[in-house]
Amino acid sequence: MKKIVALILATMMMASAAVGCSSNTATSSAAAAPAASEAAPASAAASEAASSAAADAVAASDVSVGVCIYKFDDTFMTGVRNNMTAQAKTLGSTLDIVDSQNKQPTQNEQVDTFITKGVNALAINPVDSTAAAPLVEKAKAKSLPIVFFNRQPTDDIMKGYDKAWYVGAKAEESGTMSGQLIADYFKANKGADKNGDGKIQYVMLQGEPGHQDAVLRTKWSVDAIEKAGFKTEKLAADTAMWDKVKATDLMKTFIASKGIDKIEAVLANNDDMALGAIEALKAAGYNKGDKTKYIPVVGVDATSPALAAMADGSMLGTVLNDGENQGKATVNIAVAAAQGKEINKANVGYDVTDGKYVWIPYVQVTQENYKQFQK
Ligand code: BGC
Ligand code: CA
Repeated sequence: MKKIVALILATMMMASAAVGCSSNTATSSAAAAPAASEAAPASAAASEAASSAAADAVAASDVSVGVCIYKFDDTFMTGVRNNMTAQAKTLGSTLDIVDSQNKQPTQNEQVDTFITKGVNALAINPVDSTAAAPLVEKAKAKSLPIVFFNRQPTDDIMKGYDKAWYVGAKAEESGTMSGQLIADYFKANKGADKNGDGKIQYVMLQGEPGHQDAVLRTKWSVDAIEKAGFKTEKLAADTAMWDKVKATDLMKTFIASKGIDKIEAVLANNDDMALGAIEALKAAGYNKGDKTKYIPVVGVDATSPALAAMADGSMLGTVLNDGENQGKATVNIAVAAAQGKEINKANVGYDVTDGKYVWIPYVQVTQENYKQFQK
């Protein structure tokens, strides 16, 4: 009899320990994974199995992620967005994607609405990456995972919360690769130095001021040209805000003020601006097939219109900004974190640096290999 009582007692103790354990797991990820608390065992009998099942108590199909895109009207981000939707479909998770219309206050309100609605994770492409701190605070207050992508918040903002991650690409890498495209062109075409002064006279079309990709691509592209042994001379540089139409206007002003014969290379921080510059060159009779009227233009992204421009010979080259893997990684992290899983390669499919960062490599796109990037 004593033995039986002891056994019952022991079983009860184990059971309550297990319940305590699993409900702890449930609370720590409660906001992120409401289903976990439902899965917590009500009866002692179910407790043992449940304690081991607690970690994966939330099915991916029960996860909903609130997604903000800085603005829908951005060619590259449209690609990322479509890839996110596709990946969520593969996982069976729900994405609620909204357009922040390039306004940080709008995005802040959207995040509040997502939290009120009870999403299990946030995936944010910030309008202003320096203003990400309040978003982290909002997520932290509810213990919600928050995954930033494409626009990198500062390290101290990221360090402030153990459930904050970033998915992006090393901007300096894309700058270097685009600069190398120009250097290689000048090595292969001696006449490209039109005035024969041994320097490359270039114009630079920059992305949004303050965006890591604008700042670093500008710097590293020129550095790469110089590292390849060329001297450079900046004729003009200004922002066209990642935008094709603005880039056409800007390039027209560069042509008008500097003279088209003086410009030997055009560097653009993204493909939309490279294509905008090409419109302006075409309007001046350049880059339309006549080899004596050609200025090499490079961009970044490898969007399909850019690859088409490479095919028709109006654009020299670009760099693949891998929106497919950036989109996938962002969704995988948001969903896995909402499930209470650890964020590592085994759970999200990508290397995770310092427990927080997923870096998707860039790929140089040349006249030799561009076909393999066409979809
Ligand atoms: C892309 C740009 C895009 C920007 C948006 C960059 O990585 O190269 O095309 O406009 O991200 O933040
Ligand atoms: Ca020159």
